[in-house]
Amino acid sequence: MLSENQLKNEREKGVPHCKVGVVKDMSTWRVVTPVIDYSKCIKCLTCWMQCPDVAYKVVKGSPKLISKNCKGCGICAEHCPVKCIRMVKK
Ligand code: SF4
Ligand code: SF4
Repeated sequence: MLSENQLKNEREKGVPHCKVGVVKDMSTWRVVTPVIDYSKCIKCLTCWMQCPDVAYKVVKGSPKLISKNCKGCGICAEHCPVKCIRMVKK
């Protein structure tokens, strides 16, 4: 578990927060993909913190999907406080 300071540093650098686990190309078997409506996004980065597959990086304070890491589980969409992530069929 990362400390608040470590999380803050990683957020500022824009790197995925999770350093454990194996990152493989998940996109080949994904059925749905998260799509963010940036006009509603409040940049809370809950999606970045909750994704179990290191599928978001932070660019200028906003989450950007790393497509090959995403398996389409929908956890990010479920946790988004303003519901601005839609799971869209490929
Ligand atoms: S759908 Fe799942 S794997 Fe893909 S970005 Fe969201 S939480 Fe991560
Ligand atoms: S959880 Fe939703 S509001 Fe928060 S950064 Fe992600 S997309 Fe934006």
